[in-house]
Amino acid sequence: MTFLTWRAIYNRLPTDEKLAKLGINIILGCHCCAASNENNNLETVNHIFCQGEHARRVWCEITCTLGVRLTHSSLKILILNWWNTVTKNPIANFIIQALPSIICWEIWKARCSNKFDAINPSVYKTKANILFTIVQITKKKFGKANIVESWRNIHYILDTEIHYRTTTIVKWIKPPNMSVKLNNDGSCIQDRCDGDDQKLIGNLLFAYYINLGPGTSNIAEMAALLYGLKWCVNRGFSKIWIETDSMLLTRCIERDWDERLVIQFKMPEN
Ligand SMILES: [Zn+2]
Repeated sequence: MTFLTWRAIYNRLPTDEKLAKLGINIILGCHCCAASNENNNLETVNHIFCQGEHARRVWCEITCTLGVRLTHSSLKILILNWWNTVTKNPIANFIIQALPSIICWEIWKARCSNKFDAINPSVYKTKANILFTIVQITKKKFGKANIVESWRNIHYILDTEIHYRTTTIVKWIKPPNMSVKLNNDGSCIQDRCDGDDQKLIGNLLFAYYINLGPGTSNIAEMAALLYGLKWCVNRGFSKIWIETDSMLLTRCIERDWDERLVIQFKMPEN
C-alpha cells in the first residue's frame, strides 16, 4: 500500500495519461465518475486519487468526520495534510499516518475493478474495505487496545487524548556557605490564596504560612516570594537562593517572559 502511494505521488502508475504519453491509443474517459459528469477527461493520478467523483466522496466522507483538513488541489498536498496532523494520542497518530495509504490502495482497486471488470466503484464498499484494514493493522500494532470495527469507534479513538503520567525525583539541594535558601510555594483553592516559605542555612531558619485572601495561584506564588525576600533582607541576608515550582515566576525573575505580557502585583506593606 505504501509503495502504491509512493508511485501515485510521483506519478509512476500506468494511468491513461501515462499510456498516452507512451503512444498507446486510449479511449478518453476515467473509471471513477458517472457518465454524465466528468468522464471525458484524460485519466490522471490526481483525477483517480483526489479530484474524481469516487475519490472526492471517499476522502470527503472520511476526512471531514475525522477532523483532518481536506483539499482536492493535488494528491501530494492532500496526503501531506494528513501526515502533518499530530495528536497526543499515539493510536490516533498511527491511524492518521496509515489511512492515506489504505485509502489510495482501495481507490486504486475500485478504479481497476471498473476498468478491467466493469464493476462500478462504490463509496460504501471502499469505505468498508478501508475500515476493515485500518482496524486490523491497528489491532496488530496496539494489541491491548479495544478497537471495534466501526467508524464511530475510530472517531472516538481520534477524539481521545491519552495522558501519560511521568514521575520526577525532586531533591532539595543545600545552598553554599553564607547563603540562605528560599523555598517558595503558593496555592489557590476556590480563589483563596495561601503562601509559605522556609529559609535554611544548613538548618531550618524559618518557616511560615500566610493567608492572602482572594486571588490566583500566581498571586499566591508571588506574594509568598515577596514576603520571604523581605524577611531575608530585613535580617541582613544578601545571598539568597530562590527555589520555586512556578514557571511563570521563574521566567519573571529571569526576565524571560513575552514582552506583551505585563505582570503587576501589589502587596500591602505590613
Ligand atoms: Zn473520474
